[in-house]
Order: sequence, then structure tokens, then C-alpha cells
Amino acid sequence: EVDVLQHVDIAEDKLLGGLLADGFDEQSCLSRYQSILYRKALPYKPSPYLVSKLRKYEDLHKRCGPNTPSYNKAVEKSNCKYVVWVWYSGLGNRILALASVFLYALLTERVLLVDRGNDMASLFCEPFPERSWFLPMNLPIAKKFSSFDQKSAESYGNLLKNYMIKASMGSLPSYMYLHLAHDYDDHDKLFFCDDDQALLKRFTWLVVKTDNYFVPSLFLMPSFEDELKKLFPNKETIFHHLGRYLFHPSNHVWGIITRYYKAYLARADERVGIQVRIFDKGPGPYQYVKDQISACTIGEKLLPEVDTRRLAVNPSKNPKVKAVLMTSLVYGYYENMKNIYWEHPTVTGDIIGVHQPSHEEQQRSEKPLHNMKALAEMYLLSLTDVLVTSAWSTFGYVAQGLGGLKPWILYKSENQTTPNPPCQRAMSMEPCFHAPPFYDCKAKEGIDTGKVVPHVRHCEDIMIRGWLA
Ligand code: GDP
Repeated sequence: EVDVLQHVDIAEDKLLGGLLADGFDEQSCLSRYQSILYRKALPYKPSPYLVSKLRKYEDLHKRCGPNTPSYNKAVEKSNCKYVVWVWYSGLGNRILALASVFLYALLTERVLLVDRGNDMASLFCEPFPERSWFLPMNLPIAKKFSSFDQKSAESYGNLLKNYMIKASMGSLPSYMYLHLAHDYDDHDKLFFCDDDQALLKRFTWLVVKTDNYFVPSLFLMPSFEDELKKLFPNKETIFHHLGRYLFHPSNHVWGIITRYYKAYLARADERVGIQVRIFDKGPGPYQYVKDQISACTIGEKLLPEVDTRRLAVNPSKNPKVKAVLMTSLVYGYYENMKNIYWEHPTVTGDIIGVHQPSHEEQQRSEKPLHNMKALAEMYLLSLTDVLVTSAWSTFGYVAQGLGGLKPWILYKSENQTTPNPPCQRAMSMEPCFHAPPFYDCKAKEGIDTGKVVPHVRHCEDIMIRGWLA
């Protein structure tokens, strides 16, 4: 089984340094303990405080989580508090958003419950022991989720705007809807202020719709500062640890990942991932993007140049085989690169094999197999040694975070020309928060949140991300 995975030290700690709880049925979720066979050893260990916080969370989830016979009654009587994540947006966005909501649950001692949508159960294993993370289907509020949006009269932001809620109120509604998606307004953004958190604490149920990785802004809130410092002494590994704790591919997806890995990637001396996600209007492929990929991979010496004049080179004594894993909705970038390295020798004598698992042509987030392939591809990219991603893409952020990789980011093009330089190395493996608030809660005025503390910085591609200060 594992003979093609020679680079792996099997004796490695399969619980990822205590990050994962022991005692799960291994067959029901093969990826949980097998992922270690496919990843190279990384230096990032979870802090003992994070490990103990996760075990405490698991106890809370066991006590307050669903599937108990009289769940609804138990909820009324217990002191349990909940935060519900609403299914929304593309898969990369969802993974980052859900990790953010889980961190918020850890910080506020709430139980995370997940709206399963049409694919969460087929994509991921249950991450917590004994009790499900899914919101029971029969809960009355679940019926409202699809209607929640920025305009909802019952959202926290709109209640504030219309003076319908204040800290001095004696009785409060039973739940609160928090709109934290990209189109949220200044009132919704008050979620990131300590005074508002004090009010939100009083609700048994919080329901959140978000497509963003909002962790960097939690770092700017004094009330969470100490706890975050203890949980993550290395501030650039938040998604890395939370992602590897929460998101274990289901057995179906794990099969898709491991078959591909063993067939195309395992035997190579080095694996190079290239994620091509172009936000231009048409489908492409575009010549300026082909040029950009070559300029970046060759310019940064991630891949060798080809010798277009000679038909063959003297084979070097020790030619390396490099496997390029390219992911893209379209076929053309792969075809171009594959042909370059097939038709010409490389100047180093290295052999470059280029592979692309799928080309789905369009984003079809409602289709289960489409999303399984998307998850498998993010995960496969995370197993590479060297990673190139596309600016603005959460798909790439998931890969870099899970893999503990600092990618080279292909800049977004202006007016369909190859950017110069074509790419830049990311300063951090943390995902980027695309829609941060630019507000100082104390001074009640605008502020550049990418400049307040050394460990939250402007991203190379867009907005702000956590950084190892
Ligand atoms: P983002 O839009 O790049 O931030 O990433 P999301 O994952 O949120 O949304 C993009 C969606 O498009 C993915 O979830 C997939 O459904 C699809 N998609 C984009 N790029 C690829 C790709 O390279 N491979 C596959 N299989 N799907 C992709």
C-alpha cells in the first residue's frame, strides 16, 4: 500500500502533535490518521494550550452537541451556547469561513453547529468525537437561513441601525443573525468591536453567514488578544492548525486524492503545485496568463528553462523528475506547459511531467462530485513541495494553509497583460481576509487595520492577513 510513499517517515506522530483526538474509528475516516503518510514533516507544532483548548471544546461539544434524545429541551435547560455556520459560497470560501467561525466558538465558549447544505456531509468527516457537528435538520430556525442576507431586518447590523437593540435591554430575542459576508455594511462590521461582543454574549444562539477568513480582525480585538496569543504563539499557523483539525476529507474524497497522488505524484523527486484561477470575464485560456506562469516558474527557478534550439541534451548524471500538479477550471494552461516540456529538453536535463486532475470549465458549487474534485485538488496542491497560487483565490489559500506552504502568488492582471513581476512570494501561509473592517472601535473612526499591529499586514494580493511578527 505505502510502497510508493517512500519519502514518508511512517513512525511520525499520526495525531499531528496532539492536534487530533485519539479514539476515532479509523475506517470511518481514513484521512484522519493517514494524511501523515502523504505529508512531509513540518516544523509547526500546535501549542500545548491549543491542544488542551481543543480537548475542552470536544467535551463541551459532547455535552451540548446534537443527537441527544431530547436535544431541544436540553438546549433550553442547559447553559450551552451555540454559533451556527450557514452554508454559503464557493468551497474555498466556505472552508476559510468555517475555520474562522470555529475559532470564534473557541474564543467565546460556544458550540459550533454546521448547516450541512447539499454537500458538507459527503465532503468531510465529522471532526468532533461522539457528537455530530451538523445542525439537526428539524430545528425551526434552519428554515430561515436561505432568506438571511444583508437586508434582513433581524440582522444585528440592521437592528443597530434602526435603534432596535441596545446593551441596556432586559430581554433579547432568542437568536441573533450576524451578516459577515463580503457585502456587509458598517453596522454589521461592529461585530468586531468589544462592546458589541459583550452584548452578543447574551444570546444563546448566534447564526453567522460569512464567506470570509475573518481571523486577522479577531487579533485586533483587545478582549481576544491574550487568549489568541496563548493559543497561537506562532500567529501564522492559525488556519494551518485549525484546518488540519477540522477538515478531514471523507473516504470517497480521500480515495480521489490518494489514487491521484500515487499514480502521478508519489514517485517524483519533487512536486510543484500550480493553481490557476483567473477572474477575467471570459473562460480563457489567455496567452498573457501562459506567459505569466512561465515567467514566474522559470524566473523564480521553480522549474527549469527549456532548450528550444537543440533537439536533445546530454543526459545529466542525476536527472531529477519533477511532477507539476496544475489545477484550473480550463485545460489550456496545462496543455501549453505539458507541450513545452514534452517537445523540448530542459537545460538541466531534469524531466518535467505535467498533470491536471480535472477541467470542470465552470464553477458549479451546487454539484456534489464537482465539489469533491475541488476539495481533492486543494488537498493535492497542499501535498506539493513548492506552490504557486493565483491572487484573490481562497481555493489557493486553503492549499497553502493545509500544506504549511508560503506560495508564490501570481498577480492579478490589469487589462489582460502579463504583470511585471509576474508573481511574488507570500510573506505568510495564512489566508487573506478579503473584506476587513477599517474601523477603530475605541476612537469610533476609520483606520487602516493593516497597519495597527505588526502581525496583521496588508496581503500581497488583497486586503489583510496574519503574519509572523
Ligand atoms: P475562489 O473563488 O477561488 O476564492 O475559490 P472557491 O473555492 O470559493 O470557489 C471557486 C470554485 O470554483 C471551487 O470551489 C470549485 O468549485 C471551482 N474551481 C475553481 N478552480 C478550480 C480548480 O482548479 N479545480 C476544480 N476542480 N474546481 C475549481
